[in-house]
Amino acid sequence: MPRSQRPKRRTGTSGLERYKGKRDFTLTPEPPPAQPGGRQGPLTFLIQKHDASRLHYDFRLELDGVLKSWSVPKGPALDNNEKRLAVMVEDHPFDYGAFEGVIPKGEYGAGQVIVWDNGTYSPDEGGQLSFHNRAEAERRVREEIEAGKLSITLRGKKVKGSWTLVKLSNSETEWLLIKHRDAASDEERDILDEDASVISTLTIDDIKASRLPDRGAASVILSPEDAPRAKKAKFPTKLTPMNAHPAEAAFSDPCWLFEPKLDGIRAVALIRDGAVKLLSRSGLDTTDQYPYLVDELAAQPVTNAILDGEIVAIDEDGRPSFGLLQQRMHLSGEVDIRQAEVDIPVLFYAFDQPYLEGWDLTKCTLSARKELLERALLPSSRILLLDHFTEEGEAAYDAARRLGLEGIVAKRMESAYEPGKRSHDWLKIKATLTDDFVVGGFSEGQGGRSDTFGALLLGRYDEDDTLVYAGHVGSGFTDGLLADIRKRLDKIRPQAQPVLSGTTTEGRHHVGEARARCGGEVR
Ligand code: MN
Repeated sequence: MPRSQRPKRRTGTSGLERYKGKRDFTLTPEPPPAQPGGRQGPLTFLIQKHDASRLHYDFRLELDGVLKSWSVPKGPALDNNEKRLAVMVEDHPFDYGAFEGVIPKGEYGAGQVIVWDNGTYSPDEGGQLSFHNRAEAERRVREEIEAGKLSITLRGKKVKGSWTLVKLSNSETEWLLIKHRDAASDEERDILDEDASVISTLTIDDIKASRLPDRGAASVILSPEDAPRAKKAKFPTKLTPMNAHPAEAAFSDPCWLFEPKLDGIRAVALIRDGAVKLLSRSGLDTTDQYPYLVDELAAQPVTNAILDGEIVAIDEDGRPSFGLLQQRMHLSGEVDIRQAEVDIPVLFYAFDQPYLEGWDLTKCTLSARKELLERALLPSSRILLLDHFTEEGEAAYDAARRLGLEGIVAKRMESAYEPGKRSHDWLKIKATLTDDFVVGGFSEGQGGRSDTFGALLLGRYDEDDTLVYAGHVGSGFTDGLLADIRKRLDKIRPQAQPVLSGTTTEGRHHVGEARARCGGEVR
């Protein structure tokens, strides 16, 4: 009998009757069947790890108020050559997506459950994403499930990029879950090694050892709609990044997180309708400097987002090197820049996201912004997510020092994003004796250096953001660097006198303000 004339089998599409029929809600802590009303924003997905009679992973997609569900015995694989059997099971209620804990002995599916991953998803056939049109997304997913072939982009913490679910032609319930080849596919890494819950951070073994998830802590922020204090807003024309105050010593605090401080240049990436613009800390457009970064940012599966991060060049030891970066950050010719992309490749480490898909996130907490960033960003070869430590600031500091990094930046998890502000909610703790200075001027050179300069006169911004004199530096320059810096100083030398308080005028001759590491880019 042709497929279309077969009697319709009762599948999950008929609602939650099968879910209800299998469970006694006086005995199991699983949520009773209910359909939420008025959900908005992107569709969500989740993967539960479930240690029942056999360990398996339950893959669930939100659709029409329920969770379409597949049981995946071997779990998802990032390797695009791996085909994982996925058996379609009964629809689950939407609230099941937050369920973690123990299904008691004797009940259906008895065993331990954690939410192994979750996030948002969109159909992606033909490269067409519908994250921001729920009705269209649901129509497409409905049609594709009916046709037995679904292609979706997942924005989870662990599983990302494009995936397909294909129904086997000789079975009513058996599908295959396969990763498409893209920036998120990986033949080496077994994603199942990351075994903790994305909600409670507990593992199945933790739950077996009677550690139970803290119900109150299960606030799940998968899309901006879920984030308290997110505000609908037009795409801002620019964004001046938030800055950190210097602090003396590392500390540990459960209300703070700790990022490594990378020795690169701060950059804000504006992705607007898929077009990318890079801005320096002072607002200079540096888009043309980093064509490879721009390409990879444009390939991100987001339409509108602002990423705050650091551009770094990595040396032979795998450490960020400002010296290397300096060799390319002033290039202006297209040919030179293309060559530099090969000789001194750079990476963009994203650590914050003040805007996402029509939502201003600056008033949201840092932890909410991180939750959203970790799911929205698709790490690629050059666009990466900056990891952080929680609580253990001293351990983070020691690790940073051992790795030869600049130090750490401590950030209060409840803090808002304050554009352009040097905030006490962000503290930089430096491991090495380096700092950023402003070149306030330079002295005439003598002898072999009469064509270049004698010393750079440096200032720094104090606590009140007032520029004060810090000292001069005349050694450590190669001939090439001397000539290069002089050329750049001449270019930016202003007509006006500089504003330096507490400065000594001794030896000052030519003046100009080159904001260290951006703007004038002299360090
Ligand atoms: Mn299960």
